[in-house]
Amino acid sequence: LKEIDEGKAKLLIPDPEEFRKEGKFDPSWAPVFYNPRMIFNRDFSVVIVHFLSPKTIVDALSATGIRGIRYYLESYTADEIIFNDRNKDSVELIQKNIELNKVPNTKVFNKDANSLLYEIKSDFVDIDPFGSPSPFILSSINAVKRGGFVAYTATDLAPLEGRARRSCLRKYFTFNYKLSLSKEIGLRVLISKVIQESAIMEKSVYPLISYYSDYYYRVFFRVINGAKKADEVLEKLGFIYECQDCGYHEISHTQCIDKCSYCGSKNIKTVGPLWLGNLIDKDFVNGLSQNLEKFSYLKYYDKIRSIVDLLLNESNYVGYYNLDFLASKHKTNVPAVSKMIECLGDASRTHFDTKSIKTNKKFEDILLCIKNLSYYR
Ligand code: SAM
Repeated sequence: LKEIDEGKAKLLIPDPEEFRKEGKFDPSWAPVFYNPRMIFNRDFSVVIVHFLSPKTIVDALSATGIRGIRYYLESYTADEIIFNDRNKDSVELIQKNIELNKVPNTKVFNKDANSLLYEIKSDFVDIDPFGSPSPFILSSINAVKRGGFVAYTATDLAPLEGRARRSCLRKYFTFNYKLSLSKEIGLRVLISKVIQESAIMEKSVYPLISYYSDYYYRVFFRVINGAKKADEVLEKLGFIYECQDCGYHEISHTQCIDKCSYCGSKNIKTVGPLWLGNLIDKDFVNGLSQNLEKFSYLKYYDKIRSIVDLLLNESNYVGYYNLDFLASKHKTNVPAVSKMIECLGDASRTHFDTKSIKTNKKFEDILLCIKNLSYYR
């Protein structure tokens, strides 16, 4: 074992040198999983959980226990943390790490997360799996107390972004295609799945904050009880099509779209069901943004600040236009994002893609700006 620091925690992890000697380089080969590429995810989660103020937390897929431990040490809200992993080595290491960090009031289980989540109730459940969170959605929503919260990480971008279409249908029941706006579509597909699973239990979920980063999606939901509310959120599921000829896209509440309403082409690709509501709760993220400074010690504080600013400035428009994609469809130069925003007036950047814009302006206005900016080069 090797001791490292992450945030305010000290952590024992399997010594990477040991398994490197055996020719294994990926963290998933270690007897217990620890991934330094997820420190930003955990830093940001510590901040978000602080503002959710749960009294009890379940870290259902704990590995080394780093998340639960950091929530106790840095989010300052919980008086009970439950850890769990089905891997025995992991549970032994969690115990050691809890002692090392003197975390009081813990319970550590060595169960399948699904069976544990049907036995307990908590204010906040964190699901941080390998790949898709789908196998744990129903049980995790079930484990959330009235008015509580649940968070998911999804690293299975191939199905969510429509590159693995059959897998997307199996895991998320969405008919998907790879489109120019797939980074955003992936997050909306994940949210749609969580909404559908909660509806089964007559519950509804609302995204408080959700984002894409590096190679994963992360979303925090508030969970509300009641069949009527569940019906209301289901109504915000729908479809989006992208025209493969002119690059136009449009949302729709039915799947029966047969041609592009801008150019009339039948060469369109329709994806759905997916979530067409907001990706963040602006009041929640605003509150977080105004009180972020107390977390300035975090390794990824600057990155958190910049993603929070981007999220707050992003328009609620569903989708985005990638300027490379549009320029290639219309055979123009690629304009700078800043110039496009200036030209359109009502437009914003998006955290999904640095080369894209969100705007409520008409498609012909977007094309006009692209053409004019290209002409003036
Ligand atoms: N949350 C950890 C972190 O931030 O470092 C990483 C968790 S790792 C991606 C996923 C963990 O889930 C692994 O330790 C694995 O043993 C455990 N696991 C996978 N399937 C499980 C299941 N059905 N029930 C309980 N644990 C499971």
